[in-house]
Amino acid sequence: MKEIAEIINGTLHAGTPVEITEYSIDSRSVVDPAHTLFFALKGNNHNAHDYIHTLYADGVRAFVISEFRDSFRQLAEANFIIVPDVLAALQLLAAYHRQQVQAEVIGITGSNGKTVVKEWLYQLLANDYFVYRSPRSYNSQVGVPLSLLGIAPKADIAIIEAGISQRGEMQRLQQMIRPNMGIFTHLGDAHAENFSSQQEKLAEKALLFSSCKWIIGQDGEALDFIKTQVPPTTSFLTWGENHTANVQVKTLNVNSIHREVEVTYQYKTFVLEIPFADIASFENCMNAVCVLLLKQQEPSKITEKVARLSAIAMRLEIKEGINNCTLVNDYYNSDPSSFQLALNTLATQDASKERVVILSDFMDTGKEGSNLYPAIAEMLRQANISLFIGIGQHLSEHRHYFPNNSRFYEDTEQFLRQEERENFKEQVILIKGARVFQFEYIAGFLQKQSHGTILEVDLDAMVHNLNHFRSLTDAHIAVMVKAFSYGSGSREIASLLQYHRVDYLMVAFADEGIELRAAGITIPIAVMNPEREAFDNMIMFNLEPEIYALDILEDFNQALNKHGIKRFPVHVKLNTGMNRSGFDEQDIPRLLDFFRSERSVYIRSLFSHLAGSDESVHDEFTLGQIHLFERMTERIQARFDYKIWRHILNSAGIERFPQYHFDMVRLGIGLHGISAAHANLQPVSSFKTYISSIRDVPEGQSIGYGRRSYTTRPSRIAVIPVGYADGLNRHLSNRIGEVYVKDQRVPIIGNICMDTCMIDVTDTNATIGDEVEIFGKHIPVTELSDKLGTIPYEILTGISFRVKRIYYKE
Ligand SMILES: *Cc1c(COP(=O)(O)O)cnc(C)c1O
Repeated sequence: MKEIAEIINGTLHAGTPVEITEYSIDSRSVVDPAHTLFFALKGNNHNAHDYIHTLYADGVRAFVISEFRDSFRQLAEANFIIVPDVLAALQLLAAYHRQQVQAEVIGITGSNGKTVVKEWLYQLLANDYFVYRSPRSYNSQVGVPLSLLGIAPKADIAIIEAGISQRGEMQRLQQMIRPNMGIFTHLGDAHAENFSSQQEKLAEKALLFSSCKWIIGQDGEALDFIKTQVPPTTSFLTWGENHTANVQVKTLNVNSIHREVEVTYQYKTFVLEIPFADIASFENCMNAVCVLLLKQQEPSKITEKVARLSAIAMRLEIKEGINNCTLVNDYYNSDPSSFQLALNTLATQDASKERVVILSDFMDTGKEGSNLYPAIAEMLRQANISLFIGIGQHLSEHRHYFPNNSRFYEDTEQFLRQEERENFKEQVILIKGARVFQFEYIAGFLQKQSHGTILEVDLDAMVHNLNHFRSLTDAHIAVMVKAFSYGSGSREIASLLQYHRVDYLMVAFADEGIELRAAGITIPIAVMNPEREAFDNMIMFNLEPEIYALDILEDFNQALNKHGIKRFPVHVKLNTGMNRSGFDEQDIPRLLDFFRSERSVYIRSLFSHLAGSDESVHDEFTLGQIHLFERMTERIQARFDYKIWRHILNSAGIERFPQYHFDMVRLGIGLHGISAAHANLQPVSSFKTYISSIRDVPEGQSIGYGRRSYTTRPSRIAVIPVGYADGLNRHLSNRIGEVYVKDQRVPIIGNICMDTCMIDVTDTNATIGDEVEIFGKHIPVTELSDKLGTIPYEILTGISFRVKRIYYKE
């Protein structure tokens, strides 16, 4: 700690001695508390200083902080290093560590493809070198230092991604990474918000390369510009079709699954069979191949390795499994840090189910088994895993580190021969294996079969949207998870929101709240339509009612008396113009009368609901509602000696009336990517299916029931297994609705049937099995609601329950 304090220019407040091997910035993902140095960062939404007591209780003894609070004095064994800026301290330590390691550092930047180039380089180099690479896409101001701190002393090569979103960031990254070799992947067309021009963005990115001996990239304007930005002694290796490129590349042949290219470098010509057809893969592959050329690798060897490149799955999927299991499939890297991230995801799943982990050997971690496997066993213990299944020779050899009930198999095939599906019931199962183990067979074995129409829920997009709304407000955040979280799922979404520390969840009915409690949700839950029959359950499960009339208040209070429970929170709703439910201004005296005597309920919050917060035509009315709300709440608050929270804003209100956030806001549709203020939100749900068959139909034929559409030319008509029973509104029939297939839009033709419909794919090269998007990233859900004269809420909540929900995240 003393040494670290010196490196980061901090003041040490010493406790008991500790040895540091791990670094963490996230209190929820500390793996080895006794040996972790925790950096207490302050973000927009969280101040990690608030979690220091909890971390101490978990065994963490070393902290880097920027504010020493009085209460920290109680933590007698803790070591604190006090610095003015914790992020800067983390970056200083990372820069120091990078200077200590021997590895050649390759820095990758560009708008797209960084992670793929990194992973492919790893696939291409790992047999010949000990290669370290940044976990996942850790490429930010926080991600880069954590990546650098992970470089093992023995590593030959370290591949580090650098990503920026604002001016000034690359300089800080460069000072830490100081790459010996740089790769520039691609400059996207998007004119990023925080840069005034493409050129400014490029100049900023080029800063990464100021220390490089070699820079690699595609021959062209971007590289020419980079040449003007770096020291003249820098060498370049460019690839491209023009003779100006150092490595000449010519595409010989492309079919639907691969691309054949001819490469000429230093008078040698050879052919690469890239196992992907698209341009982006070609570019990514060539950037990686240039590194091998600089390393003087033989063409025959390069050809052989390139042919074996495999796709990089950057996501983690959560799916329904057999026998009421939940499967968490992680196809990402197999290394201990990504394993920990997967365990964190497991922790956010249904708490009522047992935890199972199916794990393969880790490949090339550079750690001794006797260090690695006890650490893995400890992670499993901390994550409360009740059953561990290890697959691979290494794990089998080190089985003595794992609990007695663990099961081990030499390979995936042995697992499939010996395990039975009946062995898995009511569990959450993490399936995480290195690619060579082909765990997709295990996932298939444990997966519930269903028809291929799914609602894909992008959890990263949801967190992005949540954080956007958080950045708008200092108030507490309640999230509305009524109606199956607007169709996206209740347990999964609530677990995610709890993990991201929202303050309240709100549901429509008590049943929905009970379901969440059963899934292990412990944060406060309010119920908007409390029914008398549900009062006992609500009290038992700690579900707080919305009170919109005096008789309900009286009855609920009585139910509490029966249970002998005091000080139970309720939320009193005021009517300010919606005219649906709630106390009117003239009801206030009777409400206050009720509280004249000692009661078992207390008012946690006073709230109201806006009728037209998303439309400016109603702004005057909305402000009237808000002012009435202020008047009514002041009158009520004056009669209580405790503070009562106030809240009135829904999503559109949060964006459009920032001065009225009061103590809490209620986020709903905004979480799902719909903004009333054109904010940069991301679509969360994608309604998808696939082509199940295709038929050639001559000109002039009618399609489907009622003969409402005719072919006007010889046509290819595809069938997709989704119909109005799935939530595809029948008013989208006959070319009104469109779907997205193979990078283009095509019309729905004929009347939509109950379970299927037809689309016209004449102008595409679509084939059976191709994915079809009904709405999602390409067709906004608002396009459908506009066509149908309704609101996106109705579309989202109208997706049938028989459509399987699949959750994924990076
Ligand atoms: C549904 C609901 C919200 C959220 O509304 P959005 O428009 O989806 O943000 C807020 N408050 C109450 C009382 C609601 O019923």
